[in-house]
Amino acid sequence: MKLSNQTLLFDADDTLWENYIYFDRAIADFITLLDHKQHSPEEVREHLNQWETATIARMGYGLGSFETALIACFEHLAETRLTDEQHARIRGFAHAIAAQPVELLDGVAETLRDLAARHCLALVTKGVPLEQLDKLERSGLKLLFSTIEVLPRKTPEAYAEMLARHDWPRATCWMIGNSPRSDVQAPLAAGLNVVHIPHRHTWELEHCEIAEPAAPQRLVRLERFAELAALF
Ligand SMILES: [Mg+2]
Repeated sequence: MKLSNQTLLFDADDTLWENYIYFDRAIADFITLLDHKQHSPEEVREHLNQWETATIARMGYGLGSFETALIACFEHLAETRLTDEQHARIRGFAHAIAAQPVELLDGVAETLRDLAARHCLALVTKGVPLEQLDKLERSGLKLLFSTIEVLPRKTPEAYAEMLARHDWPRATCWMIGNSPRSDVQAPLAAGLNVVHIPHRHTWELEHCEIAEPAAPQRLVRLERFAELAALF
């Protein structure tokens, strides 16, 4: 039986539209540019993960943070300062991500339109507000959401604060997203229900173990976005 009158909170990147694949391509280009003689591409990737974790802690998520991590990682591994040309190339990798058209994932537009007729839909993403709002504008989905939240981080505390601010009751509130850490573990810890729709490519820094919630709290796993229409 379908649930009625729920508050559905949607992650954006890699839930509604492609995102990580562009970073993956930029990182592959970065590894080619660095052309390291001692470290394998996998080792360079490991180093970059550490630089990304450090820059995210300092600057938050977003393309500026990503570019800073690429530059720091390059200079560390190359043991030299970037030339102007290398600097321009790295900036180009980050800019290429921003210039990507928004590619909606399968079934997203139709399913959201269907759900919006029966439920309250909100977009709950993280990162730099301007970058996320720009993608939402270009996605053509903006009018389907009654609320848009761009959180600096998706922690249990951030979810709890957001629920309190909007007066959204936990029992009828669902977070729907691809990321085990940000969209599943954190909202479960804050008492929300969750639908996990894994994306075939998910950022390593977002992987984590997930404990099953105790009833009545629910965790539902779906393979495809369109399957939401059978649940809600
Ligand atoms: Mg996501």
